[in-house]
Amino acid sequence: MTLEQGIDPVQLLQDLIRQPSVTPELHGAFDVLEAALTPLGFACERVRFEGDGSYPVDNLFATRGEGGKHLLFAGHTDVVPPGDSVAWRHAPFAAEIVDGTIYGRGAADMKSGIAAFVAAIARAPEAGRISLAITNDEEADAVNGTDKLMAWAEARGHRFDFAIVGEPSATARVGDSIKVGRRGSLNGQIRVTGTQGHVAYPDKANNPLPAAALLIGALTGKLDDGTEHFPPSNLEFTSADVGNETTNVIPAAVLLRFNVRYNDRWTPESLIAAIEEVIGNQDLRDCRAEFTVVGRPSRSFLSPLGGGVETLIETIARRTGIPPELSTGGGTSDARFIAEYCPVVEFGLPGPTMHKVDENVRVADVEELTALYAQFIADYLGTE
Ligand SMILES: [Zn+2]
Repeated sequence: MTLEQGIDPVQLLQDLIRQPSVTPELHGAFDVLEAALTPLGFACERVRFEGDGSYPVDNLFATRGEGGKHLLFAGHTDVVPPGDSVAWRHAPFAAEIVDGTIYGRGAADMKSGIAAFVAAIARAPEAGRISLAITNDEEADAVNGTDKLMAWAEARGHRFDFAIVGEPSATARVGDSIKVGRRGSLNGQIRVTGTQGHVAYPDKANNPLPAAALLIGALTGKLDDGTEHFPPSNLEFTSADVGNETTNVIPAAVLLRFNVRYNDRWTPESLIAAIEEVIGNQDLRDCRAEFTVVGRPSRSFLSPLGGGVETLIETIARRTGIPPELSTGGGTSDARFIAEYCPVVEFGLPGPTMHKVDENVRVADVEELTALYAQFIADYLGTE
């Protein structure tokens, strides 16, 4: 049976944009969602996580149904700051619609994805289980958000068969691309230490700069030839700091910083071991090189291309006439936390204006995404 309740995804998106939920300020964002989800039969629970060196964050878990497959939708209501709002032609939290385009911070990233999915639930036949895991901190630390919410849900017995993250994933039109995996990211630094001295007496010093140059040369560039769904892993140095203002002192130390974007051939552990091996193989002429990982590396993942992913590809192909491109490009998202629990894809609108002034999406695209989500819910959860 189909629920009688209709939800206008554009109205819901406007209501969400009008909550200025800049990370981690929630305002009324969850009130808007609960008001839409509760009449659809969802049990909504707010969970606040805090600690671990970050600010407290509000999260929302909503669930409906017993038995059958369990579909998870994940997303974030927080938005990046609008910056100088004078630069906006359409006020960032007014949700103005002009010529079929809706403007506002979060329009693309990613209140539209949430609004479309909630409206889609109301349009699809009620079957199986659906849960929503919504955080209000994806854009900043992401310490007390989706990572902890997924662990919380698992501890309460929730097991998911497939997850959609409603982040902007499309290139030019809705459904042209979905993200089935992500590269991992690791930040590292190497402190190369020699012996300080006078430039006129180099034999009494040990300049760390040539050793640093050697390391940059040995480590920079491709780490492999890529895999079936990923481009080659790559290491790039982003900084080499000496801080030496003088012209007559050989410096004592150089601090090198780098980032690695890596594919599914690597784990953070294997990558760290490989970097240590390259460093160990260089002749640093008695300079010392200390390599440390900065922050927490994010793992690469590739969702298994069966089950929910296959159904989603078929749903999109049937409606748009073209199967979506399976992408693993772009930066990191909360999908990396969900990948530890179930296959996950990112499927949302085109996002060329995300994080920009006058962020916007087309009203027709929000409608189209809603229709695609609704069709997918019906195809995946079935009516039997
Ligand atoms: Zn986002």
